[in-house]
Amino acid sequence: MQLSSIYASLPSQFFAPLSPAPLHNPKIVALNEPLALELGLDPDWLRSPAGLAFLSYGARPDGVAPVAMAYAGHQFGHFVPSLGDGRAMLVGEVTDRSGRLRDIHLKGSGPTPFSRRGDGRAALGPVLREYIVSEAMHALGIPTTRALAALTTGENVTRETVQPGGVIVRVASSHVRVGTFQYFAAQGDTQSVRTLADHVIGRLYPELKEAENPYLGLLEAVTARQAELVARWMLIGFIHGVMNTDNMSIAGETIDFGPCAFLDAYDPAKVFSFIDQNGRYAYGNQPDMALWNLGRLAEALLPLLDSDRERAVEKARSLLMRFDGRFNTVYLDGWRRKLGLALEQDGDARLAGRLLTAMQRGEADFTLTFRRLGDAVRSGRTEDFVTLFGGNAKIENWLRDWQARLDREERSAEACYADMQATNPRLIPRNHRIEEAIQSALMGNYAPFQRLNTALAHPFDDGSEGLDAPPSPHEAVRNTFCGT
Ligand code: AMP
Ligand code: MG
Ligand code: MG
Repeated sequence: MQLSSIYASLPSQFFAPLSPAPLHNPKIVALNEPLALELGLDPDWLRSPAGLAFLSYGARPDGVAPVAMAYAGHQFGHFVPSLGDGRAMLVGEVTDRSGRLRDIHLKGSGPTPFSRRGDGRAALGPVLREYIVSEAMHALGIPTTRALAALTTGENVTRETVQPGGVIVRVASSHVRVGTFQYFAAQGDTQSVRTLADHVIGRLYPELKEAENPYLGLLEAVTARQAELVARWMLIGFIHGVMNTDNMSIAGETIDFGPCAFLDAYDPAKVFSFIDQNGRYAYGNQPDMALWNLGRLAEALLPLLDSDRERAVEKARSLLMRFDGRFNTVYLDGWRRKLGLALEQDGDARLAGRLLTAMQRGEADFTLTFRRLGDAVRSGRTEDFVTLFGGNAKIENWLRDWQARLDREERSAEACYADMQATNPRLIPRNHRIEEAIQSALMGNYAPFQRLNTALAHPFDDGSEGLDAPPSPHEAVRNTFCGT
């Protein structure tokens, strides 16, 4: 294993070095062997006492100290100048099999200088939740941090209830957030903003080094990646839940899975997170919130964009205006694929919009709607699709227009079907299934957790696990909690 300390080689204000203490009785409850191999980590070593020390409290074989990263953030619109890793640590970077640097990061491993009043611990439930959802996102083809392992610590933590403590070992292209830039910008420390930007460009956007103004290029690149990311969330019904600027990755990966959830019935105003009482991060608000966050990134970068502030603001503004275009391109393109359309024709956006309206009226299940539409292409039978709309007759009109649009495609129904089933997942990590897996695990039975992970690794395949069904009314999960 080749561990680097690239982030930890930045100036000292970027992080706090840690001298972590061993946990009481750590045990691995999930180890992602394919990911370990991809990272060049030997699963047998990870299971050894040295590997367990590495995974549970960041003890590196080379003795180098892990660090807690410094960052700030807008939380629900309110700026907090110093947040930082309060229950997390960056152990270091590894070079994966394709030569890419990846961060190894622990969450729940103990207090840090940024813990404030927190205990630095994570509860097992949210750890398992992040493991399931981040790996599911990866299988769905969405950029995301990955889960390398989940562990129990052998200690209890007190949240709403007393729970076993847990650690999630996650892997990311970088843990630099919008809030990392804000941390230095808020202190008026332009030199550190520049150092951070150079670090990010070198690691994530090396092609920008040659650009006329690499920092403008950085803002443009992050804007594009975030627009694409959020469009892809929207296309599978994902709600992040806490899109604070400290939870927005500069690498454009989905990060910090807290009270996230997938839509069952389609509702653009849907909020699951208990703490999001005003619906700031509701499903349908996510594109606006991403752009709002990018505005905060632009503010932090302003001194690097132009020596004249007015001109810097103008440049930032015109770049951010491109967010909508990028978002709409990816979103509409995704919609066409969801509907089985390979050609681009006028009226496609309207066709998609009408379906969404019908889904909302009929409280149709988001995932099943598209999967069953695909099934209808093959079977020619639409009953199973129509049933999802609770007897709303207007869906028959929509189906007729969609069929007429499909008839203008220049490919076989079989090709169209194959494309739709490869785009529209049959399986998503449904909230009630996650809840069920967590509750069983808390009782010591990890079989449902493993079964769910195994199935979610192949979300587009047909199978008979029964994990694809929406919740019955008594199974529906109304609220999700941060609680970590
Ligand atoms: P999050 O809700 O995970 O995005 O965290 C927001 C901020 O609160 C971050 O700075 C975390 O490090 C910090 N935080 C969350 N939970 C804890 C905890 N149990 N102990 C210390 N800090 C925490
Ligand atoms: Mg966070
Ligand atoms: Mg978090």
